[in-house]
Amino acid sequence: MKERHAHCSCGSLSLICSGEPASVSLCHCRECQRRTGSTYGIAAFFQRSQVKISGQATAYRREADSGFDVAQHFCPRCGSTVYWEPLRKPEMIAVAVGAFADPDFPAPGKQVYVQHRHSWVAVPVD
Ligand SMILES: [Zn+2]
Ligand SMILES: [Zn+2]
Repeated sequence: MKERHAHCSCGSLSLICSGEPASVSLCHCRECQRRTGSTYGIAAFFQRSQVKISGQATAYRREADSGFDVAQHFCPRCGSTVYWEPLRKPEMIAVAVGAFADPDFPAPGKQVYVQHRHSWVAVPVD
């Protein structure tokens, strides 16, 4: 089974993801803009059983637009958010696709919150 490794900037917080993500989603929402410091975030959703987490994480819990909370987990040393738990889908873990730093990672299959997309951003998904 394919294994992919994701980690924070300093490497203290790392994940091993086995198998393929259930979905990959590109999100233009303002929370993702603030979380990443970029103009959108990309999440790969894996079943919990596919993900092995090593190292310390600090959780920041916020309310998502869905009305359910999201717990964002970041490295207390370098601050990178590596994964988050959408309480709307408790069986899933969302991993920041950038944390894989893998140009061959599967492309997003959908984009959401397009109403918050920066006008110059062009993405090749619907
Ligand atoms: Zn770190
Ligand atoms: Zn978002």
